[in-house]
Order: sequence, then structure tokens, then C-alpha cells
Amino acid sequence: MKIIFGGLPAVHQKAIKGAMEFLGYNAVPLPEPDNEALKIGKEYCNRGQCNPTYYTTGNLIKFFRQQGKADDCVVLTVGSCGPCRFGMYEMEYRKALKEAGFNVPVITFNQSEALNNEFEDHGIKINRDFVVSLIKSIVAGDLVNDIYYKIKPYEAVSGSTDEWRENAGEILYEFMRKGRGFEEALREIYRNLSEIEVNFLQPKPKVKIMGEFFAQTTEGDGNYRLAQWLIDEGAEPIVEPVTTWIDYILWEKERNIKERMFKDRFRFLKEMMIVRIFTYYVRYLYSKGRKILGNIPSPLKDQGLIEKYAKDYYNPGLTGGEGHMEVGKHIYMIKHKKAHMVISVKPFGCMPSTQSDGVQTKVVEDLGDTIFISVETSGDAEANFKSRIMMKLYEAKMKAFEEYESLKRKVGNIKVVYTMANKKLPERFVTTACNYLSTLHPL
Ligand code: SF4
Repeated sequence: MKIIFGGLPAVHQKAIKGAMEFLGYNAVPLPEPDNEALKIGKEYCNRGQCNPTYYTTGNLIKFFRQQGKADDCVVLTVGSCGPCRFGMYEMEYRKALKEAGFNVPVITFNQSEALNNEFEDHGIKINRDFVVSLIKSIVAGDLVNDIYYKIKPYEAVSGSTDEWRENAGEILYEFMRKGRGFEEALREIYRNLSEIEVNFLQPKPKVKIMGEFFAQTTEGDGNYRLAQWLIDEGAEPIVEPVTTWIDYILWEKERNIKERMFKDRFRFLKEMMIVRIFTYYVRYLYSKGRKILGNIPSPLKDQGLIEKYAKDYYNPGLTGGEGHMEVGKHIYMIKHKKAHMVISVKPFGCMPSTQSDGVQTKVVEDLGDTIFISVETSGDAEANFKSRIMMKLYEAKMKAFEEYESLKRKVGNIKVVYTMANKKLPERFVTTACNYLSTLHPL
């Protein structure tokens, strides 16, 4: 039997495939959803869905059509009880697949109950081993992608970073499949990084991509290949790790437990302990991976800090989508000088992101020095989406350029230097240039 899964960037999916094969399953990742998938999804899903539903459902049907059969397959996906339309994905998959003529079972595990809800369905055991393997794969994929987007805009040889990432995916797959763990895999991946030549001394604006989960994570048509396009336009995109979402789910779970604690103190204390241990484990895994990779990937954001920044604008008790995180992340990126510009991208019809955008105007006013734009993806209107970003990107480019020029005035003319992607810059740059680089290229 084949387990069909998807919805994450390619490098994550390769790691997951390896981890599942180690657990004894034959797992097949779906390709990145494209506009053809969107069209198919619109044909088979109910009206009034948000567009990730159409993309992901259409992608499943497209996949099974290409295979020509779906006899020995099950679809594995993450479920939720909402409150936004995420809670309805599972139902849409079942309905659409049936109407398209594919009688495929859809198995879901609830994202917030995955820790205490062990079960077996169609021979697939969803238990702690399964969840931990998934998390390790996701963390590894995040770390690789973080480095990829930090290095790619500065590569000296075009395509060398793509080759490195492709290879990193294969290494993750092989190591996870053999159960050799993600630490060894990351060590190997880090060694390969020394083959990439980079020139960091180029003024490029750092652009944070945030927003709704699917829209910010996909590397396909779902956001018009935004990160890649920003690189082509001379910017450095900052993508959000999927692990932030896991961290947020755990944070939300702990918050709920605290609110219900008065009912049955002992039971809830036990639940709280499990959540805390798990949160610690996820964060530990991430920091350990970062360390192996020379601390090049950025650390995970502190959920407490995100809540603190957001709470005056967006009630953290309101769940659904990214909740208060969009507001919190925007403030975090600007206050901590992590980005020159912030893009909030949301799919057409997304309820929680629309709510966030409502208060971002006030956030922009209060922050003062921010370049922020919120854009919607609908599958069409790509030119409109990109031209709106271009206007703001120009401002961000000017900002980065001014910072660079001011540094040049301080240190004299900066010679173009080529370094390996996993090596620091030569000593003479490390003093003053580091002030600039620590803002723009934290190493
Ligand atoms: S967060 Fe928005 S786009 Fe995503 S499932 Fe919910 S409503 Fe749809």
C-alpha cells in the first residue's frame, strides 16, 4: 500500500519519505500544486472555499489521473477542527476524489491532538514514533531551506545552491531511510556547503515572506513562486520554517490547558507536562540542527515574544490560520532589524489573514519605519500581485543600498570578496563590516 502525502516544500517531503520508509511504509510525495491543480480543484470542490483547498484537492486528483489508478493508495493528511476552513479540507478531499472516480481512503491525524491520540487506520500506526519522525524530517527540511534562501541570492556560480539543495534532499532521504538520524545527515550537508562560492558584499534587501500557511510555504504557483521571483528581482527572501507552525500549535495547546486548569488540576498538569516536554524537544532539535550547520539558519522565534508584540493589536486567543502570529512576526522583523521589507501573502478568501490585514495598517503607523505590503493570491492576476510588490521593493532596495553606502564611507572602498558559503568573511571585514553584515547577513 502507498501512502500519498504532500503540502510541504520538496526537501521536507524527501526527508519525510525517508523517515516513513524507515517505519516500514511506502510513501509517495505529491508534486508542488500548480495552476492546473487549481483548475481541477475548482471543478470538484464546493464553492466558496479558500484557494489552498482547491490547489491541494486538485493536486490529488491530478496525481491519481496521471497514475491512472488509485487502488493500493491511502491519502494521509493533517486535520484540524477549524475554526477556519482548514477544518473542512478532509471532507473536500473525500468528496472530490469520489466524484472524480477515485475511491481512496483519506486518513487524518489532528494537528493539535497528535501527541495524545494514538490510533491505527488502514495499517498505518499514528503514534509518538510516527510524529517524532515527521518532526525531525520537517526540522531538517526547514534548516536546509533557511540556508538555501540565505545563500542563493549571493552565489558566485549560478545554480550551485540549487544543486546543493537537491543533493541535501537526497542525503536526508537516504539517512532517514536507513535510520541514521538527521544529525549525521546535516553534518554531511554542511560539509557540502563549503563547495559553494558566495559574494555577500552586495546590497540586497532582506524581504520577509509571511502570511497564511500554504501561501507562505509553497514554492509553486500557489504564491506565483514568490521566493524565487524575489531572488530574480535582486532581493534576499526570508522564509518561515514549518517548525514555527508546530511551535505555535504547542503554544496554543499550552494556553488552552492553562485556561481549563481550574476544572481538574491533576489531569491538566499531566497534559501540560507532555506539551512542555514536547515543546522543549522540538526547540532543542532545531537548535541542535542549527549548531551542526554552523548557526547559519536563524533561530526559531520565541512564541512568548510574538504574543507580547501582537496582543495590543490581535487577541492571541483568536485561533484559525496564523492567528496573531502575522502581526507579531511583522513587529518582530522590524523591531529586531531582521528585514527591510515584510510581505504578507494570503490566498483569496482567507478569513484569518484578512482579519490580520485589518490591523496591520495600525501596526505600520505605530512602527513608523516599516515597508509592509499585504497581497492576495487568487491563481490569476499574477501581474497585479507582482507589480504591487515591485513598488515597495524599490523602497527596500534603496534602503539596503543606503546602508551599504554608509558602510563604505566608514571602512573605505570594499573589495568584492568571494567566500565559501559556510565560512566567515576575512578578518579585516569582521570588525566594521560585521555591523552591516550582522543586520543583513547574520552568520
Ligand atoms: S488559514 Fe485561510 S486559507 Fe488557510 S485554511 Fe484557513 S481560511 Fe483557508
